[in-house]
Amino acid sequence: MTTIQTRLQAVHQRIDAAAHASGRPSNAVTLLAVSKTFGTDAVQAAYAAGQTAFGENYIQEAVQKITLLHHLPLQWHCIGPIQSNKTRLVAEHFDWVHTVDRLKIAERLSAQRPAEKPPLQVCLQVNVDGGATKSGVVPAEAMALAKAVALLPGLHLRGLMCIPEPAFDFVAACAVFSRARGLFDALNAEGLALDTLSMGMSADLEAAIASGSTMVRVGSAIFGGRHYPA
Ligand SMILES: *Cc1c(COP(=O)(O)O)cnc(C)c1O
Repeated sequence: MTTIQTRLQAVHQRIDAAAHASGRPSNAVTLLAVSKTFGTDAVQAAYAAGQTAFGENYIQEAVQKITLLHHLPLQWHCIGPIQSNKTRLVAEHFDWVHTVDRLKIAERLSAQRPAEKPPLQVCLQVNVDGGATKSGVVPAEAMALAKAVALLPGLHLRGLMCIPEPAFDFVAACAVFSRARGLFDALNAEGLALDTLSMGMSADLEAAIASGSTMVRVGSAIFGGRHYPA
């Protein structure tokens, strides 16, 4: 087995154990493999081990990989910040976007989604821990944004996503993830029919799953340490 296959197996075991610990079926949690900074060889190795959903942060890097791997039945998720001048690339190449936090970006993605493709699957990024410099809609404004995004024809609103600061321990991590869960439940109580709560990464997926995550975004635990170009 390759290293990536072995690591993927270990991540699946962590997901299963965490789901089991909180009385949830393991198929309640989807694994998104975050392949940013890694090449198509790494993506192909993960695909050979059964992984089909991949997350990318940098739009141009992602579009190159998506184009090169066009022959494989992969699902691509945009999990990085989106500037207005990048919405067309996202709308044309990705299947999902987790980082919508403004109506203007959502409107552009909807208008630019090619008619022959299914709607872009969308999660709203929520700033659950109040980091002033962080992206994400503030919780108080999430309901209004969700209702507006749900009406856009080129998009299908699926849920919420958050990237809290690393927490001190498991209990503190759960407290923050639970805020996203509370908001998710409140939106569903308003009839929004959300099914995706995107939270948890290599270091904190257990706390996220204990708090109701349905999709964990895992990079380094699968592909190893990242080296950013200078
Ligand atoms: C890089 C990244 C991840 C994966 O982080 P790891 O700690 O490598 O698992 C998940 N979500 C987002 C938004 C990221 O940017």
